[in-house]
Amino acid sequence: CGRKTNMTSRAPPISPEQTILELIAKYSRDVIAQVRPDMTFSYISPSAERLFNRPTTQIIGHHIAEFVLEEDLTLIAQATHQVVSGKADDSVVTVRVIKGDGSLIWVEVASRLMDQTETGAPGNRAVIMRDVSERKALEDTLRTMALKDGLTGLANRRSFDETLLMEWKRTARARSQMSLLLADIDGFKTFNDAFGHQVGDDCLRSVANALVSVVQRPGDTVARYGGEEMAIILPEADAQAATIVAERARKAVEDLQIRHAGSSGQVLTVSIGSATARASHGGSAGMPQALLNSADRALYSAKAEGRNCCRAAVSLVER
Ligand code: GH3
Ligand code: MG
Ligand code: MG
Repeated sequence: CGRKTNMTSRAPPISPEQTILELIAKYSRDVIAQVRPDMTFSYISPSAERLFNRPTTQIIGHHIAEFVLEEDLTLIAQATHQVVSGKADDSVVTVRVIKGDGSLIWVEVASRLMDQTETGAPGNRAVIMRDVSERKALEDTLRTMALKDGLTGLANRRSFDETLLMEWKRTARARSQMSLLLADIDGFKTFNDAFGHQVGDDCLRSVANALVSVVQRPGDTVARYGGEEMAIILPEADAQAATIVAERARKAVEDLQIRHAGSSGQVLTVSIGSATARASHGGSAGMPQALLNSADRALYSAKAEGRNCCRAAVSLVER
């Protein structure tokens, strides 16, 4: 036993630099690698075993494409081109890596050209990889929160504005048509006065759910436009389809049978204005604002004509 100790103490001394490098390679959460010009790994630090959930022997000598989700390979190719062509000193891309157990994680890959070969061709690249799955998940949550209305869970006004513009551009490109509905709760002020703001908020959630329940196509968007006004964007829908959806929405709210003493029918109702626009020659002057204005005027007519009803604007034709 004493002999063994002596043998160990006679092992070649490890320089402090070597120890530090080994510590970094082994314990850093980041993975350090060297990639050859043919995109195979010539070195990868031991910390790769945690990140990739594979032994390093299954990574070294293998092509980078074996570990990256196919859809994200173009990002790697673009980044490689930037660095190799000399357009950038280094590149950072975030891609999905396939772990040994088949699960996916988001990995930030930073790479930099190390040296040129004798022929002047691009040489090896130093690559540093980092698991950014938590950051990605947080970003996704924040993005969702930024586009959703906190009270009803519907798309918020910002999301509505973006979607309306995007759908109009699509409509214009396709020389197609689209419709927009604006729904406004009838006598909501007196409802709040009678039952309180809290009950008013519950009621807004119920109305939102009722509107969601009447849209059928995946591309349809129900949004909270403002206070107690909600909007429904119906891509591709003509005036007839919009009228049908509007009436279904009106009835869905009436069918909730929310008691509202201030309303003529004693239940809470909505008035709805709808508008349809057709892009016949791909034009988009004044759109989609004109569509919004038309739906708003139709809503005003529905209010003026007694509430709990739907009115449609004359269809707009963009030339
Ligand atoms: P009309 O039939 O003409 O639409 O009458 P109205 O009382 O609904 O219309 P008005 O625009 O005068 O009032 C809208 C009311 O909606 C005022 C406000 O108290 C209420 N409201 C707006 N946003 C919210 C909200 O987030 N929560 C609650 N509880 N009430 C809201
Ligand atoms: Mg209103
Ligand atoms: Mg109202």
